[in-house]
Amino acid sequence: MWLSGVQSSPGEGRGSLAGVEFGYPPEAEAYREKVQAFLAEHLPGDWRGLGGLPVEQADEFTKEWRRTLHQHGYLAVAWPKEYGGAGLSAIETVIVAEEFAKAGVPQSGPNDVFGIQMAGNTIIEWGTEEQKRYFLPRILSGEHVWCQGYSEPNAGSDLGNLGCRAVRDGDEWVINGQKIWTTEGHLANWIFVLTRTDPTAAKHRGITFLLCPMDQPGIEVRPIRMLSGESEFNEVFFTDARCPVENVVGGVDNGWAVAMTLLGYERGEAATVQPLRFRVELDRLLDLARETGRAGDPVIRQRLASCYAQVEIMRYLGLKVLTQFLGGGHPGPESSIFKLYWSEYHKVVTELSMDIMGAAGLVPTGRAPSSAIGPDDVGAPNSTASWAMTFLHARAGTIYAGTSQVQRNILGEQVLGLPKEPRADAGPWNELQRA
Ligand SMILES: Cc1cc2nc3c(=O)[nH]c(=O)nc-3n(C[C@H](O)[C@H](O)[C@H](O)COP(=O)(O)OP(=O)(O)OC[C@H]3O[C@@H](n4cnc5c(N)ncnc54)[C@H](O)[C@@H]3O)c2cc1C
Repeated sequence: MWLSGVQSSPGEGRGSLAGVEFGYPPEAEAYREKVQAFLAEHLPGDWRGLGGLPVEQADEFTKEWRRTLHQHGYLAVAWPKEYGGAGLSAIETVIVAEEFAKAGVPQSGPNDVFGIQMAGNTIIEWGTEEQKRYFLPRILSGEHVWCQGYSEPNAGSDLGNLGCRAVRDGDEWVINGQKIWTTEGHLANWIFVLTRTDPTAAKHRGITFLLCPMDQPGIEVRPIRMLSGESEFNEVFFTDARCPVENVVGGVDNGWAVAMTLLGYERGEAATVQPLRFRVELDRLLDLARETGRAGDPVIRQRLASCYAQVEIMRYLGLKVLTQFLGGGHPGPESSIFKLYWSEYHKVVTELSMDIMGAAGLVPTGRAPSSAIGPDDVGAPNSTASWAMTFLHARAGTIYAGTSQVQRNILGEQVLGLPKEPRADAGPWNELQRA
């Protein structure tokens, strides 16, 4: 049986579930060979994945690799050609993502998740022609490096409560307020920022989505130190910061709809490659269990088996999302299923890694992950630092891009159609009671 005409068993060619065969059509497999040939031509002969490089070299490699991708049309492969993308079909896009994930090589550079995946895709969907022509090529060239200005101290899960104020002054918006948890904000020179432009409207109205340059006196970025000791995210303060009026996306006071489109891309895009990455991580955990002599422990074995089952379920969930994507659907509230599943799983599997390591996990040594997002890089050594840091980072996975509780609320109300929770926040935003 074919789902929407095209199905996959990511990374493993054909597979089956209860007699149902999953596989790609022959032309898609032919395209896969093309991608594999590109990777073979451009990666070093002894390539084992980004995790095979020390972290400093991995960072250098990623920057250089991004240039290679840009040169050969492998950055933002789904974007239309006229804006600098490769104009690939949905299935080709998925194949590129799969092959890159299997090879353990990045599909983009630092901050591109904000520039390409979030800002770029959202501009393509909501932006004016001028905005597309101005911003998209600059995102690809790396001239514009983006970060996400959504959360505030009083607006995280309740994002609609945001109070960062923008007031029009001639042909500019003047912005005052604070954002927080701004990942890689210290590396960015542009921020897409949700602002309150009409405080007298209800809280989800009166919000405007602005594309704001950061290289100006009115914006101050302060790093936040994390549980792991690193500083990946920041507070961003706006004091009479200026943003051109033409940098509104989706219309003044219509920012909530634009913001939700972007969140769909943040939560849903990785559905097909995440299971591949989690499978590689689990295989490495099996090695760790063997290396530490814990593979014979019946309780550890049972927990490993449970993780294996969860990765398989994730794989089929990914296929479901893929089917929707290939059918032309945009990531909507259903993307919350996948976000909830992978982030909760990642806490479970990394807790298991800590139990397998025992006391050694308390004094982490060796190569640490190069990123705080998701599993460690493919090819990473089984160091105690790799697992202990990933364990700490996994806590954050159930918070960023919407907490697990929020995902469950979305699923209950918007997917299952359960009755909505009673709300006490109707009426003008500026008249709401605040703690
Ligand atoms: C690693 C990381 C990177 C991040 N990067 C960015 C970024 O780049 N840009 C950005 O804008 N933001 C970013 N964030 C912020 C993130 O989006 C928020 O942390 C998240 O939305 C939760 O908001 P909060 O921290 O204010 O928690 P709160 O909203 O205060 O929630 C506290 C607790 O209450 C629960 N809760 C809240 N409301 C409900 C409800 N209605 N029903 C049930 N439970 C509820 C939550 O689930 C949570 O457990 C990042 C966060 C992390 C951890």
